Amino acid sequence: MTAGCPARRATRRVMVGNVGVGGTAPVVIQSMTNTDTADVFGTAQQVAELYRAGSEIVRITVNTREAAAAVPKIKERLELLNLNVPLVGDFHFNGHKLLTEVPECAAALDKLRINPGNVGKGARRDEQFASLIEIACKYQKPVRIGVNWGSLDQSLLARLMDANAKRPEPKDATGLMREAMVTSALESAAQAESLGLPGDAIILSCKVSGVQDLIAIYRDLSTRSDYPLHLGLTEAGMGSKGIVASTAALSVLLQEGIGDTIRISLTPEPGGDRTREVIVAQEILQTMGLRAFVPMVVACPGCGRTTSTVFQELAQDIQTYVRARMPEWQLRHKGVENMTLAVMGCVVNGPGESKHANLGISLPGTGEEPVAPVYEDGERITTLRGDNIAAEFRNIIDAYVEKKYPKHS
Ligand code: SF4
Repeated sequence: MTAGCPARRATRRVMVGNVGVGGTAPVVIQSMTNTDTADVFGTAQQVAELYRAGSEIVRITVNTREAAAAVPKIKERLELLNLNVPLVGDFHFNGHKLLTEVPECAAALDKLRINPGNVGKGARRDEQFASLIEIACKYQKPVRIGVNWGSLDQSLLARLMDANAKRPEPKDATGLMREAMVTSALESAAQAESLGLPGDAIILSCKVSGVQDLIAIYRDLSTRSDYPLHLGLTEAGMGSKGIVASTAALSVLLQEGIGDTIRISLTPEPGGDRTREVIVAQEILQTMGLRAFVPMVVACPGCGRTTSTVFQELAQDIQTYVRARMPEWQLRHKGVENMTLAVMGCVVNGPGESKHANLGISLPGTGEEPVAPVYEDGERITTLRGDNIAAEFRNIIDAYVEKKYPKHS
């Protein structure tokens, strides 16, 4: 963690497979597949991609008997690939039935996600919720009680509306919705504990799609319980909108020490890469100084002084290169994820910013001498020129990693 980072709110620690969530554990990144879970090969492949990209826990939907039957096979396939990734089953409507009929599914999962608004209606709600909790207890699996405003428990909402109407100063619709979200999570957690689920096997989430709603709800939730909190803006959207909205909401909460695990719910572009949500989650945590995953590349935005595309190409090349090298580096070079690189477009800020990085390169702007000074730990070490600057700078990065980061045995 970087100096000046917020102290985390004290929470219980919940083990999800081999990954600790809450307590003193770092904020954990998770993601969710969008394959048909019944497709064992396709789902295992996407879980592997998400895990290799940095997702420390992966959730899969379990919506049919075929999907439930596929879960142990997916787990087996991942084990064959030597990937020990905790799997979370996402259950709605029929989870009690699927887990009872396919007990191997419960045994293979590392956590169950239960949405209290989708467990069942009327009198069956409590019975089906109890059935899910009994299964979690029997197989010693933690549970995320995941409230979502798109599927808020309607009977609870009706009860709160009645109580609200009798208040001298009733809450408005937004305030009531926020209260209902938090109440649903806390009452469901209390119910789960009363059914025998240990308090250190419960994680809570209350997901909404509005940034201010999310912040208000989690602030409230964090003062009213010590369960670990799963943070995420639901239905964040596509592209920059989804990234900005998620970052805006999560940054405020993380800065206040609220949040033990995060998921970024991006809608992928058609044909887009599902791992984007993992990279965004890493970038949020790393730019906030909470964790480090991959060397950071600082690059200036470019301006009228950079009239060619050489500068943008080099910045992209280096960013891609360090991410591609990271799987090997992190096995051999302790601390390499903390390395900083600067790729700058001209002499105005180039040398200064480059000196602040572990390695920096300042490309020539328009009208400048066609040379690119390189800085290592603040000192100018060489000057690159010609058409092979990218390859030469990559070699300098490799040499620096070998020299500065001790090798793991
Ligand atoms: S460093 Fe140079 S090229 Fe980059 S934004 Fe600043 S003035 Fe423009």
